[in-house]
Amino acid sequence: MECDGKPGKPKLAVYWGGSCGGCEIALVNLGERLLALDERLDFFFCPCLLDRKNKDVEELDDGAIALTLFNGAARTTENLEMARLLRRKSRLFVAYGACASSGGIPALANLDTPGSLSRTVFLESPTVENPSRHVPGSSSPYCTPALSLPKLTGSILPLSAIANVDYLIPGCPPEPETVWSAIAILTGADLPPKGSVVGAGTVPVCDECSRIRGEKRLRRFVRFHEAVPRDGECLLDQGIVCMGGATRSGCGALCPGANVPCSGCYGPPEGVADQGAAMVGALGSVLDPGELAALPEGEMAARTDALFEGIPDGAGTFYRYSLAGSLLRRRRP
Ligand code: SF4
Ligand code: SF4
Repeated sequence: MECDGKPGKPKLAVYWGGSCGGCEIALVNLGERLLALDERLDFFFCPCLLDRKNKDVEELDDGAIALTLFNGAARTTENLEMARLLRRKSRLFVAYGACASSGGIPALANLDTPGSLSRTVFLESPTVENPSRHVPGSSSPYCTPALSLPKLTGSILPLSAIANVDYLIPGCPPEPETVWSAIAILTGADLPPKGSVVGAGTVPVCDECSRIRGEKRLRRFVRFHEAVPRDGECLLDQGIVCMGGATRSGCGALCPGANVPCSGCYGPPEGVADQGAAMVGALGSVLDPGELAALPEGEMAARTDALFEGIPDGAGTFYRYSLAGSLLRRRRP
């Protein structure tokens, strides 16, 4: 295969950092539209599809790639290097999906330290066999010259904190309609202002959800597996934490439409800086702890704590995809 790619077609790069591969599946889910994409763009670099080497990218002139979609979190030193290299080589550098946009699920590891994370994942997990005790950052004795595994970064940051990001595509993974409309925008003549989220809406998911919202007075939360949601009625009204009010629209309210609460994968709506804080603030205004004024302080605290028993994992509920991009970012050492 020629390393120059296909002359005449603008080059496309799709790179994965610390990710599950779902963003690549989202591309495959374009179906026949993939052929139209291939007509317009040259898939130049895409580790899950093509055996092209980093050196092929390094040899390109700066700005030679028309569009890079970088998905996954910048979890390792290799991811950081690739983010900076692809940024330099690309005219448009796009955070593709929740992990690149705001850390995604991998950023929940910001609640741990890299050392403890390495021990748990590579040494202590019951399903792991690692007799040579290789962890990120160590070198392999089986290769000559010695090969070193990339180190873990201290914590996960949004891609925009590592390299200059032009646009963001939200979702875990982004829905095919989101991907298609984002690519149409990014390859079109009129680009939106730099830093825009493309391919999605601006308002909350609740605005595109068909469930009927009522007057909310929440006395307790139930975990999703404990409830059988009633059809047509807002899930949050039923005490099931649904992040739709603090999440950007664009998916068509897929999850509530399938009886599953929105977990927030499209990130915060336009103008909201911190998705978790927005959701906690919204819940604060609909909780009904009963009459508290006459209660002793300890009982008052116990009553409000009891309200939250149905939300045992606050970080994983309110910041499932956005911890790295939030005001909190990580657990303080
Ligand atoms: S909270 Fe969830 S179920 Fe209720 S309207 Fe919003 S998206 Fe729909
Ligand atoms: S409903 Fe929420 S979690 Fe589900 S796809 Fe849409 S934004 Fe993501």
